[in-house]
Amino acid sequence: MTGDGYVEWLKREGRIVIVGASLAGLRAAETLREEGFAGSLTMIGDEPYEPYDRPPLSKQVLLGKASAEHTALPRRRAIDARWRLGVAATGLDMAARRVRLADGDEVEYDRLLIATGVRARPWPRKEEAELDGVFVLRTRDDAVELHRRLAGGPRRVFVIGAGFTGSEIASACREQGLPVTVAERAAAPLVGPLGGVIGEVAARMQREHGVDLRCGVMVTRLEGDSTGRVRAAHLSDDAKVEADVVVVSLGATRNTEWLAGSDLGAGPRGIACDAGCRAFDFRGIVTDDIYVAGDVARSPHPLFGYQFLSLEHWGNAVTQAEVAAHNMISVSVDRRPHMWVPAFWSSQFGVNIKSVGVPSMGEELLVAQGSLAEGRFTAVYGYQNRVIGAVAFDQSRWLQFYQHLIETTAPFPPPFPTVDRRPEGRHPVPADFPDPSVPTHGPTVTLSGYSPADRRLTFTPGR
Ligand SMILES: Cc1cc2nc3c(=O)[nH]c(=O)nc-3n(C[C@H](O)[C@H](O)[C@H](O)COP(=O)(O)OP(=O)(O)OC[C@H]3O[C@@H](n4cnc5c(N)ncnc54)[C@H](O)[C@@H]3O)c2cc1C
Repeated sequence: MTGDGYVEWLKREGRIVIVGASLAGLRAAETLREEGFAGSLTMIGDEPYEPYDRPPLSKQVLLGKASAEHTALPRRRAIDARWRLGVAATGLDMAARRVRLADGDEVEYDRLLIATGVRARPWPRKEEAELDGVFVLRTRDDAVELHRRLAGGPRRVFVIGAGFTGSEIASACREQGLPVTVAERAAAPLVGPLGGVIGEVAARMQREHGVDLRCGVMVTRLEGDSTGRVRAAHLSDDAKVEADVVVVSLGATRNTEWLAGSDLGAGPRGIACDAGCRAFDFRGIVTDDIYVAGDVARSPHPLFGYQFLSLEHWGNAVTQAEVAAHNMISVSVDRRPHMWVPAFWSSQFGVNIKSVGVPSMGEELLVAQGSLAEGRFTAVYGYQNRVIGAVAFDQSRWLQFYQHLIETTAPFPPPFPTVDRRPEGRHPVPADFPDPSVPTHGPTVTLSGYSPADRRLTFTPGR
């Protein structure tokens, strides 16, 4: 069958399997049907629920303003799929085009989409992580249980890690009047995604809202009582903080272990794919029948020097899923690249934070509008004399403009005057990101170029 003939057949009666039944998986399924895929569609998800939305879990759900059941993702259209929920995919046979399931079943495919996302990184010491009162927050069940504990009025909540999720949890606690301590290894919150200058603003914001913020410290141990409930956290500066709820917010781990031994280019940094979302095998050869989308994917982006980006962004999961689905049922000349400009939002302590581009690549930063001191501003990041990212605190209406500057590789500092530029915005300052080799909590964009350590290869030179 020719390429065109195969795609016509695939669209009519092929078998598509999607592993990961969440945001990316659902949006891909809808796109497949929207674009005329009439064959069989199987959705495999290890959670027992139909796809739900995660951003409200650390916001409205923790505050009790929305129940976890109300986070179900709205459906854009019917997808007529066979749902295999509550069962994990445990293996992939690329040659036989088969996915193995935890219940022993096997599902065959003609095209496969992998959208298995990430999971919360647990507290590394198992016996401490298992103490009653120690939580992570990634799933609906996590949010229900954490909300229940917060509603019970704990004496103090202790949050480990001041990335976006940790900071949002601290914010939700303060909004409910709960005493909260946040411990962060870096010098300020949000330093990984936004750098030290903006981190200082985030630190001030937390303290003004009554958070007991401890920066530049590591948590060395969690202590339980004789009944197995957590009662304190010990810090590297010898401090001890008594707390009956501890939330571990140490970033995420990519769900790729199930692909071990499959020969796919999958590892701890995610699954490498090309700009058309086609997965690479471990030799760096692109596959034609396996696609990747969402938090688990890492793909090269021309705007950012073809670096492989791993994004934990809601908008990226949606767009990449749409592109992947389109490409899965298109002939090569009709395929599209995934060229989404990264964008992220967060709300905490009554402030709406939005970013575009890749701030964490920024060497310098210019406060183009507003003022850091007032906590309402737009800051632009520069990398090698071009605009690479921007972040706004309670001032998002200009972000689209800065997105345009990123897309057109505009020079940094931006040459135009802005209506609201203050003296502090006259000159760029170092953006103050930590050494990238030192992991920080909660970066939402990771530059994840090829790591030879992902897989051991022995090359035999030709004679
Ligand atoms: C608390 C919280 C707050 C957030 N807030 C924001 C925000 O404000 N703004 C923003 O832009 N983004 C936010 N995000 C990130 C956003 O939710 C993610 O980018 C998005 O969920 C990614 O979708 P996904 O489908 O790629 O992955 P996921 O949503 O992680 O879904 C992957 C699914 O695959 C399942 N799975 C994993 N392994 C297997 C397997 N072997 N077999 C079967 N199923 C498997 C997982 O259990 C999961 O259900 C937030 C995330 C969290 C957790």
